[in-house]
Amino acid sequence: MSQQLTDEKFDIKARLGATSYNFDDEEHAHISIDPEICETCTHRMCMYSCPVNCFTLVDGKMTFQYEDCVECGTCDIVCTPGSVDWNHPRGGFGVKYREG
Ligand code: SF4
Ligand code: SF4
Repeated sequence: MSQQLTDEKFDIKARLGATSYNFDDEEHAHISIDPEICETCTHRMCMYSCPVNCFTLVDGKMTFQYEDCVECGTCDIVCTPGSVDWNHPRGGFGVKYREG
């Protein structure tokens, strides 16, 4: 029983189901990347650390999807080449946590 509770507690997909979003338009995306810097990146830690897979390679180029972001800030820390431009969403937009 306690193991089951632990598994549920850390089931990221289940926890993400308890969030909702108010998407801003693309022009006001709160995070952007510089694809030219990404081309020089040797580690691509964004792909391995973003909990919601906002970073994906498409035809060898890094792409970023701001809509799914849960605003954890990890990509801003791990992106040592400096491609990530991280800001808070405008007021009223972004992720909404419904369970704390
Ligand atoms: S870690 Fe930064 S520079 Fe490297 S691929 Fe990801 S966003 Fe681009
Ligand atoms: S802030 Fe967190 S959730 Fe958002 S893109 Fe960066 S790593 Fe992913």
